[in-house]
Amino acid sequence: MSHNSIHWFRKGLRLHDNPALIAALKDCKHVYPLFLLDPWYSKNTCIGINRWRFLIEALRDLDASLKKLNSRLFVVSGPPTEVLPKLFEKWKITRLTFEVDTEPYSQSRDKEVMKLAKEYGVEVIPKISHTLYNIDRIIDENNGKPPMTYVRFQSVVKDIGPPKKPVPAPTKEDMKGVSTASSEDHEEEFGIPTLEDLGLDTSSLGPELFPGGEQEALRRLDEHMQRTAWVCKFEKPKTSPNSIIPSTTVLSPYVRFGCLSARTFWWRLAEVYRGKQHSEPPVSLHGQLLWREFFYTTAVGIPNFNRMEGNPHCVQVDWDNNPEHLAAWREARTGFPFIDAIMTQLRQEGWIHHLARHAVACFLTRGDLWISWEEGQKVFEELLLDADWSLNAGNWQWLSASAFFHQYFRVYSPIAFGKKTDKYGDYIKKYLPVLNKFPAEYIYEPWKAPRSVQERAGCIVGKDYPRPLVEHDVIHKKNIQRMKAAYAKRSSEDKDDQTITKGAKRKATSIQDMFEKKAKR
Ligand code: FAD
Repeated sequence: MSHNSIHWFRKGLRLHDNPALIAALKDCKHVYPLFLLDPWYSKNTCIGINRWRFLIEALRDLDASLKKLNSRLFVVSGPPTEVLPKLFEKWKITRLTFEVDTEPYSQSRDKEVMKLAKEYGVEVIPKISHTLYNIDRIIDENNGKPPMTYVRFQSVVKDIGPPKKPVPAPTKEDMKGVSTASSEDHEEEFGIPTLEDLGLDTSSLGPELFPGGEQEALRRLDEHMQRTAWVCKFEKPKTSPNSIIPSTTVLSPYVRFGCLSARTFWWRLAEVYRGKQHSEPPVSLHGQLLWREFFYTTAVGIPNFNRMEGNPHCVQVDWDNNPEHLAAWREARTGFPFIDAIMTQLRQEGWIHHLARHAVACFLTRGDLWISWEEGQKVFEELLLDADWSLNAGNWQWLSASAFFHQYFRVYSPIAFGKKTDKYGDYIKKYLPVLNKFPAEYIYEPWKAPRSVQERAGCIVGKDYPRPLVEHDVIHKKNIQRMKAAYAKRSSEDKDDQTITKGAKRKATSIQDMFEKKAKR
C-alpha cells in the first residue's frame, strides 16, 4: 500500500537519527513534514525572545534540508487536536509518525491525537529518539520505580546495554517515489513565520551566540569531537562557571530542541574514546548525557515533578514569598556581582554554565533568599535556550536540596565561589560594565570598598550599583537551620508513611503501554 504520511516534528528538529521520519517514508507516496505552532505553549509556558529566535532558525534550517530532498516543511498554527483532523482529510493521510515525548502535556496531547487518528483510520507510528533509552524500560527494569540515585541509574542502564545506534538521515535514494505536494503559495499558507509575524517584541534580543538548527548543531559537535584530548580529559567539576569562553560544549540548546540527537552525541563520543584513556561518568561527557537521562527518568516516574506540593520525593519547605527579592534576583540587582553577572549573561545570551546555575539557584533558594525553587524554575524556563521541562525541574530540586541532594549545609558563597576560577573578576566586568573600574580586591564585594575607591571607579554602591540584598554570612546560617527543620519534619512524617521515602510505585498510563509495545528494544 502507498501511504500519504505526515511526519509531525515537535522536538527532534533534525533529519539525522530520526527513526519516525524514516518510518514515514516507507511505502510512501506523499509525505508532509509538519510543525504545529501549538497555542498551549504560549498560554502555559513562558518562552523568552532568544529561545523563540532559536526555534525559528531551527525550523528554517529544517526546511532548507528538506528542500534538498525535494520536500518542504509545513508550518500550521493551532491546537493539534483541531489542526490534525483537518489535515488528515485535506491530504488524505493514512499514516502519522512522530518522536515520543515524555513530558506530561505531550503525553496527554499525544493520547488525544492517537484517539483521533484511529477515528480517521490513520496509522500512528511513534518512535523513541529524544532520549538515549526507552525511559519506560529503565523504570520497568528498576521494579516499576525510577532509580533515585545516579549510581543506581547507572547500574540499571548498564544491564540494559549501550544506547541504540543512531539511524542515518534520509537520502535522495530514500525519497525515490516520494513527493511532497507543495503549492505555489506554500510560503503564504505554510511558511515559517518571522518573530514579527508572531507579534513578538524583538527589542530585547541578545547577541546571537548560538544560532539554531541541525546544521549548526552538527558543525559544533564536529568541532568539539576534534578536540580529542579535551573530550577524553573532560571532568565537569573542573570546568569553570565564569570563563569568558564557555568551558563546556553548549550543545544543550541543540539537544533540547533535538537539532542534535543525544544518541549521535553519545556514539561520537564513544568513537573519540575508543582505544584511549578517558574520564568516566558521572564527570565525563558520557556522564553528562547520563545525567540528562537520569532526570528524564525521574520526571516520568515521579508525579508532579515540577512542583513541591504533591511531589512525593520533594522536601516540603516553608519558602518565603518575597516578590521584591525575587525581582532583584531575576533582574540582576542582588548587589552580589557574581550573581548579577550570571543573571545578566542568562538574560542576554540564554546560556550559563552548569556551576553558574548552581550558584544562582542556591542563592535564590536555601542559600540566601529562601524563595521557592519553583520561582527560579519559571525564570530559567523563560530565559534559557535549553529550557527543558524535565531537566529544569530535576536540577532545581537538586540545587535547593529538595530532592536527590541532601547536604543542605553545603552552601555556595556568592563571594568566594566565583573567585576560585576568576580571581580578577573579568567575567563580572564583562557582564556588569558599571563595575569595570573596580580593583580586583573589591570586585566580588564592592560595598566593602572605601568611598574614595568607589569614587575613583566611578561607581557608588547604593547609587550606581545596588547594596547587597542580604548579609550572606548571617542569612545562610539561619537558612541552614530552617532547612534542618524541614528535613526533621519530613523524617518524622516518613515514619508515619514509609511510602514517601521509598517512592510511590508508578502507575503505567495507557499511552506509555502503547509506546512500550511499539518501541521496546
Ligand atoms: P555539557 O557539560 O557540555 O554536557 C553535555 C550535555 O549533557 C548537555 O548539553 C546536556 O544535554 C547534558 N547535561 C549536562 N549536564 C546536565 C545536567 N546536570 N542535567 C541534565 N543534563 C545535563 N539543562 C538543560 O538542558 N535544560 C535545563 O532547563 C536545565 N536547567 C537547569 C537548572 C539548574 C538549576 C541547573 C543547576 C542545571 C540545569 N541544567 C539544564 C543542566 C546543565 O546545567 C546544562 O545541561 C548544561 O550546563 C548545558 O551546558 P553544556 O551543553 O555545555 O553541557
